[in-house]
Amino acid sequence: MTLFEKIASREIPAEILGEGADWIAFRDIAPQAPVHFLVVPKHCIPRINEAETSDNNLLGNLLIAAASTARQEGLAEDGYRIVVNNGPNGGETVPHLHLHVLGGRPMNWPPG
Ligand code: 5GP
Repeated sequence: MTLFEKIASREIPAEILGEGADWIAFRDIAPQAPVHFLVVPKHCIPRINEAETSDNNLLGNLLIAAASTARQEGLAEDGYRIVVNNGPNGGETVPHLHLHVLGGRPMNWPPG
């Protein structure tokens, strides 16, 4: 079981912001912005590079969940950033696909 599957099954505690049939959103343990949460599929895809065409509905649901949770967190008006880290150069540390949603401050471009 991955770390995020353990959070989804409540084996490991997290501040859960919402969940649907195939996703869960919870606050990042090491926030990089005033609001920083993760949107994670309950079924583990290791990273976006391993996603398949049959995952298209799930991937859409993750984006919709990210936006609805961002609205719930009050980020809609000022905006926010969604990030997916893939592999070593992408900065991935947990091999279970997740969308980072960051807001509450302006984001820089290009990212580090
Ligand atoms: P990645 O670096 O793989 O893109 O993102 C993994 C994220 O998971 C990091 O931002 C990290 O802070 C977060 N994280 C790691 N362990 C835990 C945990 O036990 N609980 C929560 N809520 N977040 C975690």
